[in-house]
Amino acid sequence: MNSILPNSGNRWRGVIHAYKEYLPVTDATPIISLNEGNTPLIRVDNFVNAIGGEFELWLKYEGLNPTCSFKDRGMTMAVSKAKERGAQIVICASTGNTSAAAAAYASRAKMKCVVLLPNGKIALGKLAQALMYGATTIAIEGNFDEALRIVRELGETGKVEVVNSINPVRIEGQKTAAFEICDQLGKAPDFHFLPVGNAGNITAYWKGYKEYFAAKKSDKVPRMFGFQAAGSAPIVDGAPIANPNTVATAIRIGNPASWEQANCALKESNGFIDKVTDDEILAAYKLIARTDGIFVEPASAACLAGLINCVKAKRIPVGSVITATMTGHGLKDPDNAIKTAGFEPFVVEPKKEAVMKVIGL
Ligand SMILES: *Cc1c(COP(=O)(O)O)cnc(C)c1O
Repeated sequence: MNSILPNSGNRWRGVIHAYKEYLPVTDATPIISLNEGNTPLIRVDNFVNAIGGEFELWLKYEGLNPTCSFKDRGMTMAVSKAKERGAQIVICASTGNTSAAAAAYASRAKMKCVVLLPNGKIALGKLAQALMYGATTIAIEGNFDEALRIVRELGETGKVEVVNSINPVRIEGQKTAAFEICDQLGKAPDFHFLPVGNAGNITAYWKGYKEYFAAKKSDKVPRMFGFQAAGSAPIVDGAPIANPNTVATAIRIGNPASWEQANCALKESNGFIDKVTDDEILAAYKLIARTDGIFVEPASAACLAGLINCVKAKRIPVGSVITATMTGHGLKDPDNAIKTAGFEPFVVEPKKEAVMKVIGL
């Protein structure tokens, strides 16, 4: 990847091309890609200083994928394999980002896409994506867990291909983010932080870090640190939640599909899982935008809120190298952004003096 030079003709062609030997694909697999992956790993010293940390923090900015979340990594795999099998219809339940990715990749694969969303509980940008990509968009009068139950039942009919992360190839695609982090850092981090909803991503990252270590592409594996929202923290609380609630709609999940695998990742990596309140999430969400110019969605900020609490609890040794996944782009959820910013535009007369007054000149 270091050989990508201007005009070298060596362009990035997506995660399947880049990491084929680690993925369940063959020459017969039609690769449906939007050139996802290769997202920036950004060091954020201003944020670290602001929270009183003494470590390196690198953010894997997954909001810069083609549909603006990490879900594209798993979806290029899921839709390619569905196409290989000759499936005509892909279906998913979603808190918004899976549906955006499924809809985009399905349209590129010339397949029909059906998405089931919890009515009124998905961020505006994500709804706009499902509609624009042309998915059959169904709002369930219930939550994500209920939508996923219906999708599982429909999958059993054999008439549709389920592209939720209960489809194991989604996890395979998503693990490439751990490979990229090791390639970009030149080593594995000491800690990896990420938000946890359905727990597919923590499962995928742990698998990726383990495989890269086994392939001698990295020198160690990190400790996995996951964070749930306090109103939907079944793994932390140790029991499913019937009515999960949080401002971070992407992790508003009461009964995670990959619960067991997440517990394995936590145990094997000597990891840690905790919950953070909505107030803590929104504070971290605003802080990272103000200190380092990085705009993420509220769910992504859950792991930054978790990091702030870890600093307070002195859980992070001085000099550690930490990576954190910024799972989705801030523009996905303009309503929460405008509410959280804390001010509105200054409306003034079209005169220089009026503008100077606002600036304080
Ligand atoms: C899907 C998603 C998550 C949660 O990932 P899981 O694999 O469900 O744990 C977190 N943040 C964003 C933005 C997401 O889209």
